[in-house]
Amino acid sequence: MILYNSATRKREEFVPNHPDIVKMYTCGPTVYHYAHIGNLRSYIMEDILDRYLRYAGYNLKRVMNITDVGHLTSDADEGEDKMLKGARREHKTVMEIAQFYTDAFFSDCEKLGIRRPDVVEPATNCIDEYIKIITKLLDTGYAYLAGGNVYFDTSKLERYYIFNDFNAEDLDVGVREGVEEDTNKRNKNDFVLWFTKSKFEDQALKWDSPWGVGYPGWHIECSGISMKHLGDDLDIHCGGIDNAFPHHTNEIAQSESYLGHKWCNYWMHVYHLNTTGGKMSKSKGEFLTVSLLEEKGYDPRAYRLFCLQSHYRKSLVFSWENLDNAQTTYNKLIAKIAALKSDDGAVDNDAYAALRQKFCAALDNDLNTSLAVTALYDVLKAKTNDATKLYTLADFDSVLSLDLIAKADIKREELKKEALAAGSFTVLSESGESDAAIEAQILARQEAKKAKNFAEADRIRDELKAQGIEVTDIPHGAKWRRI
Ligand code: AMP
Ligand code: ZN
Repeated sequence: MILYNSATRKREEFVPNHPDIVKMYTCGPTVYHYAHIGNLRSYIMEDILDRYLRYAGYNLKRVMNITDVGHLTSDADEGEDKMLKGARREHKTVMEIAQFYTDAFFSDCEKLGIRRPDVVEPATNCIDEYIKIITKLLDTGYAYLAGGNVYFDTSKLERYYIFNDFNAEDLDVGVREGVEEDTNKRNKNDFVLWFTKSKFEDQALKWDSPWGVGYPGWHIECSGISMKHLGDDLDIHCGGIDNAFPHHTNEIAQSESYLGHKWCNYWMHVYHLNTTGGKMSKSKGEFLTVSLLEEKGYDPRAYRLFCLQSHYRKSLVFSWENLDNAQTTYNKLIAKIAALKSDDGAVDNDAYAALRQKFCAALDNDLNTSLAVTALYDVLKAKTNDATKLYTLADFDSVLSLDLIAKADIKREELKKEALAAGSFTVLSESGESDAAIEAQILARQEAKKAKNFAEADRIRDELKAQGIEVTDIPHGAKWRRI
């Protein structure tokens, strides 16, 4: 499998560190508000990597943090804790906010077919881990105390700017909202490991530490949580592109200084979802959520399909028109699958293996999800029986997670009910046999005709013909025969 590694800026063969386990870490949400669909693009693409590694036979252990403390309004450690802002906005406690938005996040994930990582750890659970790491960094001279806070000293490193060649626009988001600079820092890029002093004295959650009562910085949580659950090394670390700097740069700095060796081998960054007006952001107030998509009548899986249709290393522009197109494509895909019949023989293993090869080749190529989606159409067009097609589609969907089979079952039932309710339209076969899949196709053709979509009606008739089925219209119905 080839993955693009943002740390080396190269496409590399993926080789795990250990023969028996793959260790993956994903930066989780800051739970002061709902996740917007931009955040969720990152989680969808990371979910594809998670699912595909398992599909390819790796024994994956995936860990994700929940940021419930320490993420300030600027990623450069300045400003106020986002959690506190959220709590004030809603007249609730920080822990109430954290619980509410953590639940909301996982509910969105479920709707989008995103698997829950094996370990989900709130940052507030691991204070001892951070204290252990910070203590050693101070002892070994990588950290210093100033103005009551503990800072990481970036001048002690030979190489700090691992990810700094991203374009200026991507880096800008790391220092958003123009907050004042911290004069305690010895070097511009030094960052806070532990706060005891802050301009915002009403910080809600504080813990005792060797440096006084305070709270951890944002970056230390990901190093601490990863090491707690995955040990001293890591195969793959994921996050959105805005996390590359300063967050991931700082994670590498502190982790490798603490461990004394290389920490993580592969870094995967998902590029942003933008609106036509620019980057989508929680701090802008109005933003798009999964619930909003649902209220407007979209299926969250159509949004997932929209994301899969483009590569994770390209920014993606969201518009309602683009989502409409994805929803239409999704509906058509489901209708085609609904027309397949499951009981037409045994699964042809050779046909399955050939189709699978193409699917894997797409994902092995740095997660080319749009080609993996195309592989679904290859299945539908393949010269094999429907049982093989359904088996292969279900298999691919264990990675793509578009809920294809269950939705097709629902669609099939709907078509039957509609036909019954209409009453007047009957489907007969000349031989007297009954075939649910053929009947469903004929009913879909009738629906298209009713909607005056004659091109679609003709397409279905041609498709049936290609399957060796001839349809003739009769008063109040249609009859079919095998030719
Ligand atoms: P946050 O909840 O702000 O900590 O962000 C959660 C995840 O979403 C991080 O991995 C971010 O890098 C990512 N992210 C933030 N904005 C976007 C966006 N517009 N498109 C894609 N990913 C994003
Ligand atoms: Zn992180």
